[in-house]
Amino acid sequence: MAAVTSYFELHEFLASDTAKERGIDNTPTFTVVAHLDELRRTILDPMREAWGGPIKVTSGYRSVLLNAAVHGVSNSAHLTGYAADIRPTDKRRTAKFILWAVGWLEDNGIKYDQAIDEQVGGERWLHIAVRDNRGRQRQQNLVITG
Ligand SMILES: [Zn+2]
Repeated sequence: MAAVTSYFELHEFLASDTAKERGIDNTPTFTVVAHLDELRRTILDPMREAWGGPIKVTSGYRSVLLNAAVHGVSNSAHLTGYAADIRPTDKRRTAKFILWAVGWLEDNGIKYDQAIDEQVGGERWLHIAVRDNRGRQRQQNLVITG
Protein backbone atom coordinates (compact mmCIF):
# COMPACT_ATOMS: atom_id res chain seq x y z
CA MET A 1 0.00 0.00 0.00
CA ALA A 2 1.45 3.33 -1.04
CA ALA A 3 0.48 4.88 2.23
CA VAL A 4 0.69 8.63 2.48
CA THR A 5 -0.66 8.51 5.98
CA SER A 6 -2.45 5.39 7.09
CA TYR A 7 -3.29 3.80 10.39
CA PHE A 8 -2.93 0.36 8.80
CA GLU A 9 -0.09 -1.47 7.13
CA LEU A 10 -0.40 -4.14 4.46
CA HIS A 11 0.99 -6.89 6.68
CA GLU A 12 -1.89 -6.41 9.11
CA PHE A 13 -4.27 -7.60 6.37
CA LEU A 14 -2.17 -10.64 5.47
CA ALA A 15 -1.16 -12.02 8.85
CA SER A 16 -2.94 -15.21 9.91
CA ASP A 17 -2.12 -17.60 12.73
CA THR A 18 -3.88 -20.38 10.83
CA ALA A 19 -1.80 -19.75 7.69
CA LYS A 20 1.36 -19.71 9.77
CA GLU A 21 0.53 -22.89 11.68
CA ARG A 22 -0.47 -24.81 8.56
CA GLY A 23 2.10 -23.36 6.17
CA ILE A 24 -0.60 -21.87 3.91
CA ASP A 25 0.58 -19.29 1.38
CA ASN A 26 -1.38 -16.05 1.83
CA THR A 27 0.51 -13.87 -0.62
CA PRO A 28 -1.82 -11.34 -2.29
CA THR A 29 -1.92 -10.49 -6.00
CA PHE A 30 -1.58 -6.86 -7.09
CA THR A 31 -5.34 -6.77 -7.59
CA VAL A 32 -5.91 -7.91 -4.02
CA VAL A 33 -3.51 -5.25 -2.74
CA ALA A 34 -5.44 -2.61 -4.72
CA HIS A 35 -8.70 -3.83 -3.18
CA LEU A 36 -7.25 -3.75 0.33
CA ASP A 37 -6.10 -0.22 -0.42
CA GLU A 38 -9.61 0.84 -1.42
CA LEU A 39 -10.98 -0.70 1.79
CA ARG A 40 -8.36 1.08 3.87
CA ARG A 41 -8.60 4.44 2.13
CA THR A 42 -12.39 4.75 1.85
CA ILE A 43 -13.47 3.10 5.10
CA LEU A 44 -10.85 1.94 7.59
CA ASP A 45 -8.64 5.00 7.85
CA PRO A 46 -11.50 7.51 8.19
CA MET A 47 -13.26 5.14 10.61
CA ARG A 48 -10.11 4.77 12.71
CA GLU A 49 -9.63 8.54 12.68
CA ALA A 50 -13.19 9.15 13.88
CA TRP A 51 -13.09 6.38 16.50
CA GLY A 52 -9.88 7.78 17.94
CA GLY A 53 -8.44 4.53 19.31
CA PRO A 54 -6.43 1.60 17.99
CA ILE A 55 -8.22 -0.99 15.87
CA LYS A 56 -7.03 -4.55 15.32
CA VAL A 57 -7.52 -6.39 12.03
CA THR A 58 -8.29 -9.96 13.10
CA SER A 59 -8.67 -11.22 9.51
CA GLY A 60 -8.06 -9.47 6.20
CA TYR A 61 -7.15 -11.11 2.90
CA ARG A 62 -7.58 -14.87 2.67
CA SER A 63 -6.23 -17.06 -0.10
CA VAL A 64 -8.58 -19.85 -1.21
CA LEU A 65 -6.74 -22.38 0.98
CA LEU A 66 -6.76 -20.10 4.01
CA ASN A 67 -10.45 -19.28 3.56
CA ALA A 68 -11.24 -22.99 3.46
CA ALA A 69 -9.08 -23.61 6.55
CA VAL A 70 -11.02 -21.02 8.57
CA HIS A 71 -14.35 -22.26 7.15
CA GLY A 72 -15.08 -18.99 5.36
CA VAL A 73 -18.01 -18.92 2.93
CA SER A 74 -17.00 -19.71 -0.65
CA ASN A 75 -17.90 -16.24 -1.99
CA SER A 76 -16.30 -14.42 0.95
CA ALA A 77 -15.18 -10.84 0.29
CA HIS A 78 -12.02 -11.77 2.20
CA LEU A 79 -10.96 -13.72 -0.92
CA THR A 80 -10.73 -10.56 -3.02
CA GLY A 81 -9.21 -8.31 -0.35
CA TYR A 82 -12.43 -6.32 -0.14
CA ALA A 83 -13.16 -7.22 3.50
CA ALA A 84 -11.63 -7.15 6.94
CA ASP A 85 -12.72 -8.29 10.38
CA ILE A 86 -11.95 -5.62 12.93
CA ARG A 87 -12.39 -4.79 16.59
CA PRO A 88 -10.85 -2.32 19.01
CA THR A 89 -7.46 -3.42 20.29
CA ASP A 90 -9.12 -3.09 23.70
CA LYS A 91 -11.54 -6.01 23.36
CA ARG A 92 -13.75 -4.77 26.15
CA ARG A 93 -14.88 -1.93 23.89
CA THR A 94 -15.97 -4.21 21.02
CA ALA A 95 -19.74 -3.99 21.58
CA LYS A 96 -19.57 -0.23 21.89
CA PHE A 97 -17.34 0.01 18.81
CA ILE A 98 -19.64 -2.04 16.56
CA LEU A 99 -22.69 -0.02 17.54
CA TRP A 100 -20.75 3.18 16.93
CA ALA A 101 -19.24 2.00 13.62
CA VAL A 102 -22.58 1.07 12.05
CA GLY A 103 -23.93 4.52 12.95
CA TRP A 104 -20.78 6.19 11.67
CA LEU A 105 -21.06 4.46 8.26
CA GLU A 106 -24.65 5.65 7.96
CA ASP A 107 -24.11 9.19 9.25
CA ASN A 108 -21.18 9.80 6.90
CA GLY A 109 -22.71 8.27 3.78
CA ILE A 110 -19.85 5.81 3.52
CA LYS A 111 -20.15 3.43 0.57
CA TYR A 112 -19.78 -0.22 1.57
CA ASP A 113 -21.21 -3.62 0.76
CA GLN A 114 -21.73 -5.32 4.11
CA ALA A 115 -21.24 -4.50 7.77
CA ILE A 116 -21.75 -7.64 9.84
CA ASP A 117 -21.78 -7.83 13.63
CA GLU A 118 -20.38 -11.35 14.06
CA GLN A 119 -20.28 -13.30 17.30
CA VAL A 120 -18.81 -16.77 17.20
CA GLY A 121 -17.41 -18.86 20.04
CA GLY A 122 -17.04 -16.04 22.52
CA GLU A 123 -15.33 -13.78 19.98
CA ARG A 124 -17.00 -10.74 18.44
CA TRP A 125 -15.92 -8.54 15.54
CA LEU A 126 -17.20 -6.29 12.79
CA HIS A 127 -16.89 -7.72 9.27
CA ILE A 128 -16.69 -4.76 6.94
CA ALA A 129 -16.60 -5.18 3.17
CA VAL A 130 -16.21 -2.31 0.74
CA ARG A 131 -17.53 -4.39 -2.19
CA ASP A 132 -18.73 -7.90 -2.90
CA ASN A 133 -16.96 -10.07 -5.46
CA ARG A 134 -19.05 -8.49 -8.23
CA GLY A 135 -18.03 -4.99 -7.18
CA ARG A 136 -21.37 -4.12 -5.62
CA GLN A 137 -21.91 -1.81 -2.66
CA ARG A 138 -25.23 -2.91 -1.21
CA GLN A 139 -25.08 -1.10 2.15
CA GLN A 140 -26.21 -4.20 4.06
CA ASN A 141 -26.18 -4.41 7.85
CA LEU A 142 -26.33 -7.92 9.28
CA VAL A 143 -25.90 -9.70 12.58
CA ILE A 144 -24.53 -13.24 12.68
CA THR A 145 -24.31 -15.27 15.87
CA GLY A 146 -23.09 -18.83 16.01
ZN1 LIG B 1 -15.15 -11.35 7.80
